[in-house]
Order: sequence, then C-alpha cells, then structure tokens
Amino acid sequence: MTNYISSNLGYPRIGAYREWKSALESYWSKSITEESLFSQTKKLRLANLQKQKDIGVEWIPVNDFSFYDHVLDTAISFGVIPKRFQQLDPTAIDTYFAIARGNKEAVAAEMTKWFNTNYHYIVPELNDVTPSLVENRALRYFNEAKEELGIKGKPVLVGPVTFVKLAKGYDDNQLNEIVQSFIPLYTQVINELVEAGAEWIQIDEPILGTNLTVNEISLVEEVYTQIKQATPNAKLLLQTYFETVQHYDKVIKLPVDGIGLDFIHGDYFPLIEKIGFPQDKVLAAGVVNGRNVWRADLTKTFDLVRKIEEATKAETIILQPSSSLLHVPVTKESEQKIDPIILDGLSFADQKLAEITTITKGANEGEEAIKAELQESKKAHEALSNSPYRQNESVAEELANLSKDEVKRALPFAERIQLQQEDLQLPLLPTTTIGSLPQTAEVKSTRTKWRKGEITNEQYEAFIQTETKKWIQIQEDLDIDVLVHGEFERTDMVEFFGEKLNGFAVTEFGWVQSYGSRCVKPPLIVGDVSWSEPMTVKEIVYAQSLTDRPVKGMLTGPVTILNWSFVHEELPRFTVQEQIALALEKEVLALEESNVTIIQVDEPALREGLPLDQLKWPAYFDAATRAFRISSASVKPTTQIHTHMCYSEFSEIFEVIDALDADVISIETSRSHGELIDTFEINHYDKEIGLGVYDIHSPRVPSVEEIKENITRALRTIDAKQFWINPDCGLKTRGEEETIAALRNMIQSAKEVREEY
Ligand code: GLN
Ligand code: ZN
Repeated sequence: MTNYISSNLGYPRIGAYREWKSALESYWSKSITEESLFSQTKKLRLANLQKQKDIGVEWIPVNDFSFYDHVLDTAISFGVIPKRFQQLDPTAIDTYFAIARGNKEAVAAEMTKWFNTNYHYIVPELNDVTPSLVENRALRYFNEAKEELGIKGKPVLVGPVTFVKLAKGYDDNQLNEIVQSFIPLYTQVINELVEAGAEWIQIDEPILGTNLTVNEISLVEEVYTQIKQATPNAKLLLQTYFETVQHYDKVIKLPVDGIGLDFIHGDYFPLIEKIGFPQDKVLAAGVVNGRNVWRADLTKTFDLVRKIEEATKAETIILQPSSSLLHVPVTKESEQKIDPIILDGLSFADQKLAEITTITKGANEGEEAIKAELQESKKAHEALSNSPYRQNESVAEELANLSKDEVKRALPFAERIQLQQEDLQLPLLPTTTIGSLPQTAEVKSTRTKWRKGEITNEQYEAFIQTETKKWIQIQEDLDIDVLVHGEFERTDMVEFFGEKLNGFAVTEFGWVQSYGSRCVKPPLIVGDVSWSEPMTVKEIVYAQSLTDRPVKGMLTGPVTILNWSFVHEELPRFTVQEQIALALEKEVLALEESNVTIIQVDEPALREGLPLDQLKWPAYFDAATRAFRISSASVKPTTQIHTHMCYSEFSEIFEVIDALDADVISIETSRSHGELIDTFEINHYDKEIGLGVYDIHSPRVPSVEEIKENITRALRTIDAKQFWINPDCGLKTRGEEETIAALRNMIQSAKEVREEY
C-alpha cells in the first residue's frame, strides 16, 4: 500500500490583503521603522505557516518567505553582491533593498522573469565575487517556525544549478567551476539545517525543465553526488516544476531521496512506462495546478493520483501543488462581487491546499472518505461549463470564418513607413514614452472612491480628464514628440481590458506578486471573449483634442492579455488568444476611425509565455504572430503600429519580434544594462525601434550624460534613422517630480545627440 503525505512547495508572501506590500512600501517611504517592518512581516509569515497547518498540510515549506525575491535572498546569503554595492554592510536590509531597487549612487540589479511566469527575480551578478556563507536564512526561518509555532518546516532552497544558470557575469565555459564553488556553501546550509532538526529539504531545480546541454546535465549529476556525500544525514527532495524534466532517465537516478515532478504541466506517463520510477525514492507529485485559480475537478485529480500510483509503484507519494503557490492569490474567501457560479469554480492558494489535503485523505483512506468533496467539485465544474459564458455562438462563428491564410498589412514596411513619415513629420530620433504616467496617491484614492460609489461616474471621468490635461501640458512643455494620454483610467493594463471585454471576470482581492512589492490582479477568462463597445477611444480622443502633436492610442496585445489572465483550463489557449485578437482588432479600427494615427499594442508578456521546452516554440511563435497581426494588421498603411516589450532575453524571440511586423517597437534595455543591443545588429532589424534609454524601476533621476551614453551606445549599432528615444517602460509607479526631471534629461539628451547628426 502506498502511503500518501500532503505537502506544499511555497506559499504566497503578500497576505490576503497585501499586508506585505503595505509594510514594505511604508518602510521605503520612511513612515515605519525597520523594527516595525520586521515585526509586521514576521506576524504575517507566522500566520501563513499557521494557516497551512490548520488546513492540514503535513509538510509546510519554510524559507519561501522573502522581503523582495528569493533569488536575491539566495544571492545575498552567499555573499553574491554586485560590485557597486560591496562597500555596504551585506547583512543590512537597506543593502538588500538597494540592490533590488537602486539607490542614489548605483543602479539596481537587473530583474527578469522567473521561467515562464510573470514573477520577476533579481539577476545575481557573479563577476567580482567570491561566494561565502553570509547567513543561513533557511536555518533562521526553520528555527523561527519551530520555536514560535512548534512547526517543523520543510526548508526550501533554490538549487545550485538553477541559481548559477539564472545568474550573470561569467562565460559559459566557467559554469562548472562556478557551480562547484557554491557546493561547500550548500552543504554547510544543509548540514546546519539537519543539525537543527530539519528532515526533508526541498531543493528547487526548475532549470531541469529547460533544454540543458550534455555538459550541463553531467554537471547536475556531479553536483548532487557531491552534495549527497557531504550531507549524509539529510533527506534531499529535488524539486522540479513548470515542464517535463528534459533528462528524466538521468534525473531520477540522481543521488537524492526524493524527486518532485509536476504532473500538471509535465507529460510523465510515457516516460514512467518506458523508464520506470526508482523504488528507493520518494515521489513528490504535483497534482493540483499551482499556476491558475481554478478549482480542481477532484474526481479527475483522484484518478490522476491512482494512475501515478499504478505507474510508479512508489511506496511513498507526497501530494502537492504543481509549483509554489507564489503564482496564485491567497484566498477566495473575501470575494463578494463575483458571479457565484464563477466563485464556486475558483480555488486560490488556501483552497488549493485544502484540495491537496482532501485528495491525500482519499488516497490513504479510499474514495468513499471524500465522496462529498468529489461530488461538490464536479458540480461546480459542470455549472461553469453549462453557463452562458461558454455559449457565445457568434464568437465561434467569427473564428470559424476567419481565413487561415497569413494575416498581412496592405503594404510592406518599407513602403508604408514612408507614407507614415510624410504624415507625421517627426524629427530625427523622435521622443516618446511607453504609455502610463505617474499615478499619484490622489489618482488611486479617487479611483477607490469611484469604485466604492462615493463619487459619480461623471466626477470620476472629470478627474481623469484633469489629470490627462495636466500631463498633455507637461509633455508639450517638455517638448516630447509623440504624446500619451497617461493611462490614468487604468489600474492594470490587462485588468482594464478584462473589465470591458465579454468572457472575462475580475476579482477584488486576487493579487499575485509580480516584482518586489508590486502585485497584479490577473483577470479571469471564463468563456468566449468578445468586444462589445469601444474601450479606449474616449480617453485618447480627449487627449488628442488638447494638442497638435500625435497622441498614441494605447492597447494591450492579445498574447499579453492571454498570458496575464487566468484562463480556464477547459478553454483551448490558442483559441482564446484569437478571440482576444479579434476583439482588439475592433478596438484598433475604432481608434483609427476616430483619426488616431499611431496605435501602440503592448506585448510585454510575449517572451514570458514562451514554453520552457524549445520544441514547443514554433507553435507558440506562430500563434503569437498570428494573433498580434489579427489585432493590428487591418489598419491603413498610414496608421503607425507600435508595440512594446519589457525585461527579457530578446535574442531568443527576435524572430517573432520581427514577424509581428509592427512599425515601431520599444524595448526595455537599460535595466539589463544594454545587453540586448547586439541582437538587433546581428539580425539586421529593419523597422523602427526605441531601446529604452533609462531604467524606470527606480526613483533615481538619470543624468543627461548617462542617457546620452545609452543613446550613443545604441547608435553604434542601430541607424539613427530607425531609432526612437524613450524610457524603458511605463511610468505609472514613479513619482511626478522625479518623472518630469528624468524626462527633461531624456529630451535634453535627445536634442544634444541630434546635433551630432
Ligand atoms: N503601456 C503600458 C504602460 O506604460 C506598458 C506597460 C508594460 O510594458 N508592462 O504602463
Ligand atoms: Zn514595459
């Protein structure tokens, strides 16, 4: 008989009401002390552990908490501190925040997306460091849980291979040597944990879901052999997630005590059938989706568990979510406004853990023991499947009628750009911004009042207009060439469209951490998506009425809307993506109809949705390109289509960037310290492009010199005739004063560089 144990891989840090965010931001703005930051976050951390215990989870993770990001935590505890911060005290929380956010003297470390998620980690910089154990944080959190709550937690570590692979500042041929240099530190961390009483230790190696080279996989073998030898009393659980591990045969033979596999996103049965599962190891099976918010159909989950048992014949199976629950909101308990049919079909972190404990009970005691729960979850699923959300026939018809041929602009780029230039008459090196402008406390509080019904629609709209008007004036005074309306009416670029398109639903508290204290509230896609009326036209037309300079229409693209929403599991993703694209096409045409001549369709999530397994890339690229073109290609040749993307490895997706056929693309560049510029030279990019000339994630105001340097660096590679000057990304989270100062310097830089041409 197989023995089942319930477990969790990681719990959201932010709190049901984003208490974590409030604590951090209050500390940053100096309205609370360091002591208070520590006590508030400790309270939350302990409450999160207690909650998991109350739900009945047997293995509760510790060291999943972080003050910003767990990769940064790992770096700092190993003394991996960028050179420009090395004169600071490595144990001080302010040093930690300085690396994450930048300070007056130094730019922040690069931030990039964690595998195929919208969670951003801080990229460790390995140049100029000799790793050493500065602090065993896992031990600190393990002891805390034990002493304060009597919980013997399961420490979670970012594994050495994943850590180094995600870091930068070394050449590929140094990989082995660098990973090796961390092994003594890892073994010390593990041995100290064992000494303190830890039993199982979870080592996360999601990198195993990506395409590793032969050398890399033998490195993995070597690393774990060494770690195991040096930590004979530890029980190591090697945890993978998000994708099928690429070298299953080798991974299951690694000298560890347990292997964690994601059965939701991985395709393991063919591998188990062929290769088997080692009988001397514990299997930790991810059976509830840790990446979405939908209630599991527990009958199916139960069948999956029985199938896993039969296939692996494992003696002990740990049942757990497919990944850390960092990627889902905390609890659905406070949701009051959402349609009850949808609410009943939801499952956030707490509900997912309850699903895990239910399934564990059923697996141990037999199906009868959880009969009521099985029936209830089936009923919830059926109710949603049969609801009107799923029966929009006109959408199905429109999709069916869509030609399968390539979707193209009426004229090729070289011809249409000339027409656009004639119409627009922009100077060399035109200046613009990415869309959003600072959302002050007043903007946010006014929106809250409006949502609560404390002010009327008219009052709210009038307020938005005042804000827009103020900023059109500011942009004109700064002498920016292509203006934006500022997106003051939007909280979040996807949620905004989610509230207006059919087929979507929004939550009140469904927040998920995106980067640092910043959280997003992804909308839900519950059924067929369609457009019913203009969503953005009024605001753009108003902004345009205030100025003679062009104001960009501003939309979020289909790939991003899809990737940043929680799409119901029963809906085929690529179909939903085309439905969104068709809806956006109507919006694009409505803007054009209202004489908007530049329309930006943002696709910041294009890279992030890329599957971890390269074999799946072509299908993803094709679908993404097609969707973007459906939404944007039917405009007149004179209408200029812009797109925007942020923080990513662009060399990988260059092909698709090119295929989108947007007239102008703006890309985050400064935060990654200019590393992507070469991509565009190597590939001979021929369209117009704005490589961000300053980082917007920090309150620091960049100097004219610094911005000029960034511009000149790009112009060594890219023709000035193709080049636009813009910040890295939207300015929503910045303060007004610092934004104006930064933009003033940006415009000044542009003018000075123009003189040289
Ligand atoms: N237009 C959006 C903005 O400026 C783009 C944001 C993004 O790239 N994430 O806010
Ligand atoms: Zn961006």
